Amino acid sequence: MNHALEPAVAAIRCEGLCQDLGGQRVLQGIDLAVAKGEVVSVLGPSGSGKSTLLRCLNWLAPPTAGRVWLGNEEVGVKPDRHGRQRPLADAAVRAQRSRIGMVFQSFNLWPHMTALENVMEGLLSVKRLARAEAHERAAAALREVGLGHKLDSHPARLSGGQQQRVAIARTIAMQPEVILFDEPTSALDPELVGEVLGVMRELALRHTTMIVVTHEIAFADGVCDRVVFMDQGRIVEQGPPAQVLRAPQQERTQRFLGRFA
Ligand code: ADP
Ligand code: MG
Repeated sequence: MNHALEPAVAAIRCEGLCQDLGGQRVLQGIDLAVAKGEVVSVLGPSGSGKSTLLRCLNWLAPPTAGRVWLGNEEVGVKPDRHGRQRPLADAAVRAQRSRIGMVFQSFNLWPHMTALENVMEGLLSVKRLARAEAHERAAAALREVGLGHKLDSHPARLSGGQQQRVAIARTIAMQPEVILFDEPTSALDPELVGEVLGVMRELALRHTTMIVVTHEIAFADGVCDRVVFMDQGRIVEQGPPAQVLRAPQQERTQRFLGRFA
């Protein structure tokens, strides 16, 4: 367990994060710091801003207001020589974003590529590795998620659980500093959820820094160091899983968790 929230050691951190979408403020000032090796789950009702938070953290959708740091480096902006914050050049933002992994509900694999080629793609185009090295690293990542025997399979020949494991392999092969998961098992048939959660549990045991948006309460309880509960664009409550899940203090958390009781 690791509840250290010292900003100096945070793998990723945000302050006052706000996002306006469709004329609405859907993130209302989020402060969050995730320590290196910490595994945080984010729970909350549909529409509470969980996906928006992840998209702001990795600058997929730059926030309307607020700041994000990856380690000690601020994401997306840089002070000019007068100390004023200026937007970073696109290439610099891309370089920062490549240090943050993201796993979506929809696996987003290339259908015309094999599992191996899907995992190699970012290693070749973003990391600019030599082909042999990319091949080796991609194969190792696929073995890590239990798919060493499926390197040459195309996505259509894989189950949903296997496809999501390829997507996770693609992410870990890039060796990001933090991985953001947005409901990674929500699109899966129930019997395939366990194999994906099993891979994520392995990553957590190896102290991968992770933020996991999920409705899998047992995963949040058994694997995560901290549970963050969001509602209406705000963090309503957070703490160790035992506290937030079994003795929630806030009425909105109690009401939400009541659905799973
Ligand atoms: P969650 O992931 O918790 O279900 P989201 O972050 O997807 O919530 O959405 C938060 C709020 O922002 C919702 O009210 C949603 O309707 C709204 N929203 C999300 N994306 C957009 C968009 N592109 N345009 C307008 N509103 C959006
Ligand atoms: Mg969402």
